[in-house]
Amino acid sequence: MNEAREESCVRGTTRVFGIFGDPVDHSLSPVMQNAAFEKAGIDAVYVPFHVRPQQLGGALEGLRSLGIAGINVTVPHKERVLDLLDEVDAHARLIGAVNTILNRDGWLFGYNTDGIGLLEALRAELDFNPAGSHVLLLGAGGACRAAAVALCAAGAESIGWVNRTAQRAQKLADEFSAHFPGTEFAVYPWDFQEPSTFPVAALADVDLVVNTTTLGLKGESIALPWHLLSPRVSIYDMVYASEKTPLCVQAGRHGCQAADGLSMLVGQGEHAFRIWTGVPAPAGVMKKRLLAVLHDKKHQS
Ligand code: NAP
Repeated sequence: MNEAREESCVRGTTRVFGIFGDPVDHSLSPVMQNAAFEKAGIDAVYVPFHVRPQQLGGALEGLRSLGIAGINVTVPHKERVLDLLDEVDAHARLIGAVNTILNRDGWLFGYNTDGIGLLEALRAELDFNPAGSHVLLLGAGGACRAAAVALCAAGAESIGWVNRTAQRAQKLADEFSAHFPGTEFAVYPWDFQEPSTFPVAALADVDLVVNTTTLGLKGESIALPWHLLSPRVSIYDMVYASEKTPLCVQAGRHGCQAADGLSMLVGQGEHAFRIWTGVPAPAGVMKKRLLAVLHDKKHQS
């Protein structure tokens, strides 16, 4: 057996990490975490676990009994898992969801690395610092909660919410204004159908627009009134695909700097790696591996 082959072998000392989801077979986390472990020379392996909702409690007990060192949690378990852990980080509690668990001698700690992943993506891709900024969030679901907590904690001056269901965004604004008195919140209902019905006041002074809706996953465009957006506004689309997302294409046409959600996926993964191993993920490895996988998918389809 050559040395490279031996390096990638699972041994008696190998620590096990993984992801719980239902479904889980589409997850890109195994390829990016395994690439990072290998590059960093860490004796660990990352495995997808298909965990159905009724099995979540048992799967968490399994972490303790099998000594699995750390787990990512994805849809549909991120919210429910919060109440099943021994300890939860303050930001994850405010977000209301956990995507990373650290098993320290049977004591399960929950974290949410999506928000910090977004901040890292904004810095790396758009050179954007939220301190003192005005941000417009499209959507008000789970990913949006993570974005809002991270942006407020990083000093955003205002957060505007544009959502189809106004009550959902209003609930977030009411809840977060109690936690972040230094940030102003506003809610703008919009059905995402027509640029002409877009609430224009939402664009006043805006520095960054973040799409946190699922629009774009199936190639849908977002009917923003682009003629009212200054080219100095940055656009971040949490959606990612093997092709440029429709929002990033539109932003480019209008001269706005834009990035898609791949960098956030990498950012949340790199932060989970650091929580589990105590060392930074090797620079650029997760991103390079993801781009290679997406490139292959594009050429297979
Ligand atoms: P979610 O909780 O289901 O929220 C979905 C949001 O999209 C809601 O605000 C919903 O509006 C809105 N929406 C859905 N369909 C719509 C439509 N046809 N017209 C207008 N608005 C619509 O989902 P989530 O977990 O927050 O995820 C949102 C997106 O973020 C997904 O695309 C996900 O893949 C992405 N994401 C990316 C990363 C990353 O690392 N890049 C991480 C997490 C999530 P209503 O409130 O009116 O229903």
